[in-house]
Amino acid sequence: MQKHSDLPQAFADLGIEVRFLKALRTMGFQTPSDIQLAMLPPALEGKDILGQARTGTGKTAAFGLPVLQGIDPGGRLQAICLAPTRELAVQVTAELQRLSAGTGIHLVSVYGGQKIATQAHQLGKKPHFVVGTPGRVMDMMQRGMLNISDARFVILDEVDRMLDIGFRDDIRRILSCVKSEHQTIFVSATLDEEITRLSKRYMTDPVEVNVSKDRLTVDNVDQSYVTAERRDKFRLLRILLERENPDVSIVFTNTKHIAHKLCKKLYEAGIEATEIHGDLMQNKRDRVMDQFRKGHIRVLVATDLAARGIDVSSVTHIFNYDIPADPEIYVHRIGRTARMGARGVAITFVSREEGKELTQVEALINREVTQRVVDGFVSDAPKEEPISRPPSRTERPVEEGAPKAPVRTLAAKFPTRRRRRM
Ligand code: ADP
Ligand code: MG
Repeated sequence: MQKHSDLPQAFADLGIEVRFLKALRTMGFQTPSDIQLAMLPPALEGKDILGQARTGTGKTAAFGLPVLQGIDPGGRLQAICLAPTRELAVQVTAELQRLSAGTGIHLVSVYGGQKIATQAHQLGKKPHFVVGTPGRVMDMMQRGMLNISDARFVILDEVDRMLDIGFRDDIRRILSCVKSEHQTIFVSATLDEEITRLSKRYMTDPVEVNVSKDRLTVDNVDQSYVTAERRDKFRLLRILLERENPDVSIVFTNTKHIAHKLCKKLYEAGIEATEIHGDLMQNKRDRVMDQFRKGHIRVLVATDLAARGIDVSSVTHIFNYDIPADPEIYVHRIGRTARMGARGVAITFVSREEGKELTQVEALINREVTQRVVDGFVSDAPKEEPISRPPSRTERPVEEGAPKAPVRTLAAKFPTRRRRRM
């Protein structure tokens, strides 16, 4: 093969064609990530694949490149990818569009909350590749607007969420409509035994690729927790936002209600924050995500569903305003920062009753989350009562006025960026 010196040769070596290498060059991909290294060769061979790698490691291109490369731009609909949320469907579509720039491959995403007529119109333009949420895909299939029976590629992104009980029926029905011989690729940040078993029902002799079993957590994230009772959390957040002065942060809450209330309180306290959760209209959610991607939002208050899989590489701080009940959600949340090798900070607020949740997180990530003592902050719960967990925690005090570690945030990577103060 002719050598193109400035094209990413490492991708060429794995079998990626020049027409995609050009897009990769534009996107700044030089070397494949672990999951890409592991998935691209078997995927290009046409094998069914069940792939796991932690969030932010490039799973989209790992399934996207081989599928895009297998699409005939002269043909009709050939690939369908299902994703659990609207935001994710939009994000995956955008990434696939970038990956296939200049190849003549046409992608369309369909998801709930937007006018079905608009999306039907887009489907009328004969896309090669449709990305959608299960509910809307199902709906459009039933109305005869979408026919996937000839698809040759079937992809499930974030398969752990997709096979959550609520989606299972839709997934089964949608996938059973694909009548032609096809390649099936499922990817996920986590895979337990049950999900693996369910996934394999849809696959023939699948290759299992797992690049993160031992590294479930994000090594580049500085993880700590602060003991705070519920009524003190807001005060704590204010102090941390001021001291850490994050460039881009996400504050996770466990419910839409808390997200909404918190956002309002922040606003009243003069801190510009934006909320995103399932109660917002879809176009509002799209607008918020767009603003967030562009870096116009510094503090995003989010629920898990709305923020799942969101890839905004500039996120420097994650605040778990509420510790999630499910430790895997913790891993997903902190995966929003430290994308592709950058550094990030994750601070979790834990009340005395939540020691168990914290311990579960530590068991899952197989590492200790250190306690952070925030100078000037005391959560005035019944005194001297320690958090209900083994007391072997190393404490790491945060001195007042201490200079921030320079490499901890992305600001160090982008020194020219303006750092706004609150
Ligand atoms: P995941 O689905 O595993 O969470 P994504 O596919 O969303 O990860 O990728 C995370 C980010 O990393 C995206 O911004 C993507 O463009 C970028 N990325 C993916 N692969 C590479 C690569 N090989 N080199 C540089 N950046 C990459
Ligand atoms: Mg992804």
